[in-house]
Amino acid sequence: MQLNIYPALIDKYIFLRKRFLNSATPAQAITDRSHGQVLIQEVTYKMDVFGPVQSRRFDLSLGINHLPPKTCTYSCVYCQLGRTSIMTTNRAAFSEPQEIFQVINNRLKELAREGVHPDTITFVSNGEPTLDKSLGEAIRLIKPLGIQTAVITNASLLWHSDTRTQLMEADIVSVKVDSVMEDTWHKVDRPHGTLRLDEILNGIHRFAQTYRGKLFTETMLISGLNDTDAEAKAAVVFIGDLHPHTAYLALPMRPPAEEWVHPPTEERLMAVFQIFKEHIPKVELLMDLPKTELPANDKPIQSLINTLNVHPLGKNEIETYLNSQNLDWKIIESLIKKKILKSISTQGTEFFVRNYKK
Ligand code: SF4
Repeated sequence: MQLNIYPALIDKYIFLRKRFLNSATPAQAITDRSHGQVLIQEVTYKMDVFGPVQSRRFDLSLGINHLPPKTCTYSCVYCQLGRTSIMTTNRAAFSEPQEIFQVINNRLKELAREGVHPDTITFVSNGEPTLDKSLGEAIRLIKPLGIQTAVITNASLLWHSDTRTQLMEADIVSVKVDSVMEDTWHKVDRPHGTLRLDEILNGIHRFAQTYRGKLFTETMLISGLNDTDAEAKAAVVFIGDLHPHTAYLALPMRPPAEEWVHPPTEERLMAVFQIFKEHIPKVELLMDLPKTELPANDKPIQSLINTLNVHPLGKNEIETYLNSQNLDWKIIESLIKKKILKSISTQGTEFFVRNYKK
Protein backbone atom coordinates (compact mmCIF):
# COMPACT_ATOMS: atom_id res chain seq x y z
CA MET A 1 0.00 0.00 0.00
CA GLN A 2 1.30 3.49 -0.81
CA LEU A 3 0.69 6.36 1.58
CA ASN A 4 0.60 10.03 0.72
CA ILE A 5 1.91 12.12 3.58
CA TYR A 6 1.04 15.78 3.96
CA PRO A 7 3.52 18.30 5.47
CA ALA A 8 1.73 18.64 8.82
CA LEU A 9 1.57 14.88 9.10
CA ILE A 10 5.27 14.55 8.38
CA ASP A 11 5.88 16.92 11.30
CA LYS A 12 3.72 14.63 13.35
CA TYR A 13 5.78 11.67 12.17
CA ILE A 14 9.00 13.44 13.22
CA PHE A 15 7.47 14.22 16.63
CA LEU A 16 6.49 10.56 17.01
CA ARG A 17 9.91 9.43 15.88
CA LYS A 18 11.62 11.61 18.48
CA ARG A 19 9.26 10.26 21.12
CA PHE A 20 10.04 6.78 19.92
CA LEU A 21 13.79 7.32 20.01
CA ASN A 22 13.51 8.60 23.57
CA SER A 23 11.23 5.76 24.50
CA ALA A 24 12.37 3.03 26.87
CA THR A 25 10.48 0.45 24.78
CA PRO A 26 11.89 0.80 21.29
CA ALA A 27 9.89 -2.08 19.84
CA GLN A 28 6.57 -0.36 20.54
CA ALA A 29 4.33 0.28 17.58
CA ILE A 30 2.98 3.78 17.10
CA THR A 31 0.00 4.13 14.84
CA ASP A 32 -1.78 7.22 13.72
CA ARG A 33 -5.04 7.48 11.82
CA SER A 34 -6.11 10.62 10.02
CA HIS A 35 -8.19 11.37 6.92
CA GLY A 36 -9.25 7.73 7.18
CA GLN A 37 -5.76 6.47 6.33
CA VAL A 38 -3.19 4.71 8.41
CA LEU A 39 -0.33 7.16 8.12
CA ILE A 40 2.32 5.66 10.27
CA GLN A 41 1.89 1.98 10.62
CA GLU A 42 4.82 1.21 12.79
CA VAL A 43 7.84 3.15 13.86
CA THR A 44 10.68 0.71 14.32
CA TYR A 45 13.18 3.00 12.66
CA LYS A 46 16.35 4.43 14.02
CA MET A 47 19.03 6.22 12.00
CA ASP A 48 21.97 3.89 11.51
CA VAL A 49 25.22 3.36 9.65
CA PHE A 50 26.03 0.12 7.87
CA GLY A 51 29.02 -1.58 6.32
CA PRO A 52 31.46 -0.55 5.11
CA VAL A 53 30.82 -2.51 1.93
CA GLN A 54 33.05 -2.70 -1.12
CA SER A 55 31.46 -0.76 -3.98
CA ARG A 56 32.53 -0.34 -7.60
CA ARG A 57 31.68 3.33 -7.53
CA PHE A 58 32.69 4.38 -4.03
CA ASP A 59 35.39 1.83 -3.05
CA LEU A 60 35.06 0.97 0.64
CA SER A 61 31.81 2.71 1.48
CA LEU A 62 30.29 3.36 4.90
CA GLY A 63 26.54 3.79 4.37
CA ILE A 64 24.13 6.06 6.22
CA ASN A 65 20.48 5.18 6.39
CA HIS A 66 18.60 8.22 7.69
CA LEU A 67 15.02 7.64 6.50
CA PRO A 68 12.24 5.42 7.83
CA PRO A 69 11.46 2.41 5.63
CA LYS A 70 10.62 2.92 2.84
CA THR A 71 10.20 6.61 2.12
CA CYS A 72 10.57 7.55 -1.51
CA THR A 73 9.30 9.70 -4.35
CA TYR A 74 9.43 6.69 -6.66
CA SER A 75 8.40 3.06 -6.44
CA CYS A 76 10.78 1.59 -9.02
CA VAL A 77 9.83 -1.82 -10.36
CA TYR A 78 13.39 -3.04 -9.72
CA CYS A 79 13.83 -1.58 -6.21
CA GLN A 80 15.70 -4.02 -3.98
CA LEU A 81 13.84 -2.63 -0.96
CA GLY A 82 10.46 -3.72 -2.32
CA ARG A 83 7.49 -1.47 -3.09
CA THR A 84 7.41 2.02 -1.55
CA SER A 85 5.29 2.18 1.59
CA ILE A 86 5.57 5.94 2.25
CA MET A 87 5.24 7.70 -1.08
CA THR A 88 5.87 11.42 -0.69
CA THR A 89 7.55 14.43 -2.29
CA ASN A 90 7.44 16.55 0.86
CA ARG A 91 10.91 17.30 2.10
CA ALA A 92 11.16 17.28 5.89
CA ALA A 93 13.82 17.18 8.61
CA PHE A 94 13.86 13.40 8.99
CA SER A 95 17.20 13.27 10.75
CA GLU A 96 19.28 15.24 13.23
CA PRO A 97 22.58 16.24 11.55
CA GLN A 98 24.37 16.23 14.90
CA GLU A 99 23.13 12.67 15.53
CA ILE A 100 24.35 11.57 12.09
CA PHE A 101 27.75 13.11 12.78
CA GLN A 102 27.99 11.44 16.18
CA VAL A 103 27.01 7.97 14.93
CA ILE A 104 29.47 8.18 12.02
CA ASN A 105 32.27 9.52 14.17
CA ASN A 106 31.80 6.68 16.69
CA ARG A 107 31.69 4.05 13.94
CA LEU A 108 34.83 5.42 12.27
CA LYS A 109 36.68 5.21 15.59
CA GLU A 110 35.54 1.58 16.06
CA LEU A 111 36.64 0.72 12.50
CA ALA A 112 40.01 2.47 12.94
CA ARG A 113 40.69 0.27 15.96
CA GLU A 114 40.14 -2.74 13.65
CA GLY A 115 42.39 -1.20 10.99
CA VAL A 116 39.48 -0.47 8.61
CA HIS A 117 39.44 2.94 6.89
CA PRO A 118 36.44 3.64 4.62
CA ASP A 119 37.05 5.63 1.43
CA THR A 120 33.58 7.14 1.24
CA ILE A 121 30.66 8.02 3.51
CA THR A 122 27.58 7.37 1.38
CA PHE A 123 24.03 8.57 1.93
CA VAL A 124 22.06 5.60 0.68
CA SER A 125 18.90 5.20 2.62
CA ASN A 126 15.60 3.41 2.93
CA GLY A 127 14.34 5.53 0.06
CA GLU A 128 15.28 8.90 -1.42
CA PRO A 129 17.92 10.74 0.68
CA THR A 130 17.07 14.23 -0.61
CA LEU A 131 13.65 13.97 1.06
CA ASP A 132 15.59 14.77 4.22
CA LYS A 133 15.90 18.55 4.52
CA SER A 134 18.81 18.06 6.93
CA LEU A 135 20.97 16.37 4.30
CA GLY A 136 23.09 19.43 3.40
CA GLU A 137 23.78 20.24 7.07
CA ALA A 138 24.69 16.60 7.78
CA ILE A 139 27.21 16.58 4.90
CA ARG A 140 28.71 19.87 6.14
CA LEU A 141 29.19 18.42 9.62
CA ILE A 142 30.77 15.20 8.32
CA LYS A 143 33.24 16.89 5.94
CA PRO A 144 35.87 17.75 8.59
CA LEU A 145 36.20 13.99 9.23
CA GLY A 146 38.32 14.01 6.05
CA ILE A 147 36.49 11.27 4.12
CA GLN A 148 34.76 11.98 0.83
CA THR A 149 30.96 12.08 0.93
CA ALA A 150 28.60 10.66 -1.67
CA VAL A 151 24.85 10.81 -2.24
CA ILE A 152 22.94 8.30 -4.36
CA THR A 153 19.78 10.07 -5.45
CA ASN A 154 16.94 9.35 -7.83
CA ALA A 155 17.19 13.09 -8.73
CA SER A 156 13.42 13.54 -8.64
CA LEU A 157 13.70 16.55 -6.32
CA LEU A 158 16.47 18.32 -8.21
CA TRP A 159 13.91 20.67 -9.74
CA HIS A 160 13.91 22.18 -6.23
CA SER A 161 16.70 24.78 -5.80
CA ASP A 162 17.22 23.87 -2.10
CA THR A 163 17.89 20.26 -3.04
CA ARG A 164 20.44 21.33 -5.65
CA THR A 165 22.18 23.63 -3.17
CA GLN A 166 22.39 20.91 -0.53
CA LEU A 167 23.79 18.33 -2.96
CA MET A 168 26.55 20.77 -3.97
CA GLU A 169 28.10 19.95 -0.57
CA ALA A 170 28.77 16.31 -1.52
CA ASP A 171 32.02 15.19 -3.19
CA ILE A 172 30.20 12.63 -5.35
CA VAL A 173 26.60 12.65 -6.53
CA SER A 174 25.06 9.78 -8.46
CA VAL A 175 21.82 10.68 -10.26
CA LYS A 176 19.31 8.20 -11.62
CA VAL A 177 18.32 8.56 -15.29
CA ASP A 178 16.35 5.42 -16.14
CA SER A 179 14.50 7.00 -19.03
CA VAL A 180 13.93 10.41 -20.60
CA MET A 181 10.69 9.22 -22.16
CA GLU A 182 7.53 9.99 -20.22
CA ASP A 183 5.78 6.63 -20.72
CA THR A 184 8.82 4.53 -19.89
CA TRP A 185 9.68 6.70 -16.86
CA HIS A 186 6.20 5.99 -15.50
CA LYS A 187 6.54 2.26 -16.14
CA VAL A 188 10.04 1.86 -14.66
CA ASP A 189 10.17 4.40 -11.81
CA ARG A 190 6.44 4.68 -10.97
CA PRO A 191 6.82 8.28 -9.70
CA HIS A 192 4.67 10.17 -7.18
CA GLY A 193 1.71 11.73 -9.01
CA THR A 194 2.89 15.33 -8.56
CA LEU A 195 6.28 14.80 -10.24
CA ARG A 196 6.94 15.92 -13.81
CA LEU A 197 9.70 14.42 -15.90
CA ASP A 198 10.50 17.63 -17.82
CA GLU A 199 11.03 19.52 -14.54
CA ILE A 200 13.24 16.75 -13.16
CA LEU A 201 15.41 16.60 -16.27
CA ASN A 202 15.71 20.37 -16.23
CA GLY A 203 16.72 20.23 -12.54
CA ILE A 204 19.38 17.57 -13.21
CA HIS A 205 20.72 19.66 -16.05
CA ARG A 206 20.91 22.82 -13.94
CA PHE A 207 22.64 20.91 -11.16
CA ALA A 208 25.22 19.42 -13.54
CA GLN A 209 26.07 22.86 -14.93
CA THR A 210 27.27 24.20 -11.58
CA TYR A 211 28.28 21.10 -9.59
CA ARG A 212 32.04 20.90 -9.07
CA GLY A 213 32.23 17.37 -7.57
CA LYS A 214 32.21 14.02 -9.33
CA LEU A 215 28.91 13.42 -11.09
CA PHE A 216 27.79 9.87 -11.92
CA THR A 217 24.66 8.85 -13.75
CA GLU A 218 23.01 5.48 -13.25
CA THR A 219 20.60 3.87 -15.66
CA MET A 220 19.00 0.60 -14.60
CA LEU A 221 18.18 -1.49 -17.65
CA ILE A 222 15.02 -3.59 -17.55
CA SER A 223 14.18 -6.10 -20.24
CA GLY A 224 11.32 -4.94 -22.44
CA LEU A 225 11.05 -1.50 -20.82
CA ASN A 226 14.08 0.75 -21.39
CA ASP A 227 16.48 -1.49 -23.33
CA THR A 228 15.53 -0.47 -26.87
CA ASP A 229 17.77 1.50 -29.24
CA ALA A 230 15.27 4.38 -29.24
CA GLU A 231 15.40 4.60 -25.44
CA ALA A 232 19.19 4.46 -25.37
CA LYS A 233 19.57 7.08 -28.12
CA ALA A 234 17.27 9.50 -26.29
CA ALA A 235 19.00 8.87 -22.96
CA VAL A 236 22.53 9.46 -24.27
CA VAL A 237 21.62 12.85 -25.73
CA PHE A 238 20.50 13.97 -22.27
CA ILE A 239 23.22 12.21 -20.25
CA GLY A 240 26.01 13.25 -22.62
CA ASP A 241 25.03 16.87 -22.10
CA LEU A 242 25.55 16.48 -18.33
CA HIS A 243 29.24 15.61 -18.91
CA PRO A 244 29.23 13.01 -16.15
CA HIS A 245 32.49 11.62 -14.78
CA THR A 246 31.03 8.15 -15.51
CA ALA A 247 27.70 6.95 -16.87
CA TYR A 248 26.82 3.61 -15.28
CA LEU A 249 24.52 1.05 -16.83
CA ALA A 250 23.16 -1.17 -14.09
CA LEU A 251 21.25 -4.44 -14.11
CA PRO A 252 18.73 -5.69 -11.56
CA MET A 253 20.96 -8.31 -9.89
CA ARG A 254 19.38 -8.27 -6.43
CA PRO A 255 15.72 -9.20 -5.75
CA PRO A 256 13.45 -6.62 -7.47
CA ALA A 257 10.16 -5.19 -6.14
CA GLU A 258 8.31 -6.92 -8.99
CA GLU A 259 8.97 -10.55 -9.85
CA TRP A 260 8.58 -10.00 -13.59
CA VAL A 261 11.59 -7.66 -13.73
CA HIS A 262 14.57 -9.12 -15.60
CA PRO A 263 17.85 -7.80 -16.98
CA PRO A 264 18.03 -7.32 -20.77
CA THR A 265 19.34 -10.10 -22.98
CA GLU A 266 23.07 -10.03 -23.69
CA GLU A 267 22.36 -8.84 -27.21
CA ARG A 268 20.21 -5.89 -26.03
CA LEU A 269 22.69 -5.02 -23.31
CA MET A 270 25.56 -4.84 -25.79
CA ALA A 271 23.49 -2.75 -28.20
CA VAL A 272 22.63 -0.21 -25.48
CA PHE A 273 26.22 -0.19 -24.21
CA GLN A 274 27.48 0.51 -27.71
CA ILE A 275 25.09 3.45 -28.14
CA PHE A 276 26.21 4.90 -24.80
CA LYS A 277 29.90 4.40 -25.67
CA GLU A 278 29.50 6.30 -28.94
CA HIS A 279 28.24 9.42 -27.15
CA ILE A 280 29.69 9.42 -23.64
CA PRO A 281 33.44 9.25 -22.92
CA LYS A 282 33.26 6.99 -19.84
CA VAL A 283 30.59 4.30 -19.61
CA GLU A 284 30.71 1.33 -17.27
CA LEU A 285 28.51 -1.69 -16.80
CA LEU A 286 27.51 -2.68 -13.28
CA MET A 287 26.90 -6.31 -14.17
CA ASP A 288 28.27 -8.31 -11.31
CA LEU A 289 27.17 -8.29 -7.71
CA PRO A 290 29.49 -6.03 -5.74
CA LYS A 291 31.67 -7.91 -3.29
CA THR A 292 30.29 -7.34 0.16
CA GLU A 293 32.73 -7.93 2.97
CA LEU A 294 31.31 -6.77 6.24
CA PRO A 295 34.05 -5.88 8.72
CA ALA A 296 34.33 -7.28 12.24
CA ASN A 297 32.10 -5.55 14.74
CA ASP A 298 31.42 -5.74 18.42
CA LYS A 299 27.69 -5.91 17.58
CA PRO A 300 27.87 -8.33 14.63
CA ILE A 301 24.16 -9.14 14.38
CA GLN A 302 23.05 -5.51 14.61
CA SER A 303 25.67 -4.60 12.01
CA LEU A 304 24.35 -7.30 9.68
CA ILE A 305 20.74 -6.16 10.13
CA ASN A 306 21.73 -2.52 9.50
CA THR A 307 23.24 -3.60 6.19
CA LEU A 308 20.25 -5.76 5.25
CA ASN A 309 17.96 -2.79 5.93
CA VAL A 310 19.15 -1.25 2.66
CA HIS A 311 21.25 -3.88 0.91
CA PRO A 312 20.16 -7.50 0.30
CA LEU A 313 23.00 -9.99 0.72
CA GLY A 314 23.47 -13.42 -0.82
CA LYS A 315 23.70 -16.55 1.30
CA ASN A 316 27.46 -16.89 0.62
CA GLU A 317 28.13 -13.32 1.70
CA ILE A 318 26.28 -13.84 4.97
CA GLU A 319 27.96 -17.20 5.60
CA THR A 320 31.40 -15.64 5.10
CA TYR A 321 30.55 -12.87 7.53
CA LEU A 322 29.12 -15.24 10.17
CA ASN A 323 32.18 -17.49 9.92
CA SER A 324 34.47 -14.51 10.45
CA GLN A 325 32.52 -13.72 13.62
CA ASN A 326 32.40 -17.36 14.81
CA LEU A 327 28.62 -17.27 14.53
CA ASP A 328 26.24 -19.96 13.39
CA TRP A 329 23.68 -19.92 10.55
CA LYS A 330 21.04 -20.66 13.21
CA ILE A 331 21.05 -16.93 14.00
CA ILE A 332 19.70 -16.23 10.52
CA GLU A 333 17.06 -18.93 10.92
CA SER A 334 16.00 -17.36 14.19
CA LEU A 335 15.82 -13.84 12.64
CA ILE A 336 13.64 -15.26 9.85
CA LYS A 337 11.41 -16.97 12.42
CA LYS A 338 11.03 -13.66 14.26
CA LYS A 339 10.16 -12.04 10.89
CA ILE A 340 13.09 -9.63 11.12
CA LEU A 341 14.61 -11.06 7.92
CA LYS A 342 13.20 -12.88 4.94
CA SER A 343 14.75 -14.84 2.10
CA ILE A 344 14.06 -14.21 -1.58
CA SER A 345 15.38 -16.17 -4.54
CA THR A 346 16.15 -14.37 -7.74
CA GLN A 347 17.95 -15.58 -10.86
CA GLY A 348 19.08 -18.73 -9.09
CA THR A 349 20.59 -16.96 -6.07
CA GLU A 350 19.13 -16.87 -2.58
CA PHE A 351 19.19 -13.41 -0.95
CA PHE A 352 18.32 -12.24 2.52
CA VAL A 353 16.66 -8.88 3.15
CA ARG A 354 15.05 -6.97 6.00
CA ASN A 355 11.41 -7.92 6.44
CA TYR A 356 9.43 -4.74 7.08
CA LYS A 357 6.07 -6.49 6.92
CA LYS A 358 5.26 -8.32 10.15
S1 SF4 B 1 15.32 2.23 -6.39
FE1 SF4 B 1 15.71 4.10 -5.22
S2 SF4 B 1 14.39 5.59 -6.18
FE2 SF4 B 1 13.62 3.63 -6.81
S3 SF4 B 1 12.02 3.15 -5.31
FE3 SF4 B 1 13.95 2.21 -4.59
S4 SF4 B 1 14.80 3.73 -3.20
FE4 SF4 B 1 13.25 4.78 -4.43
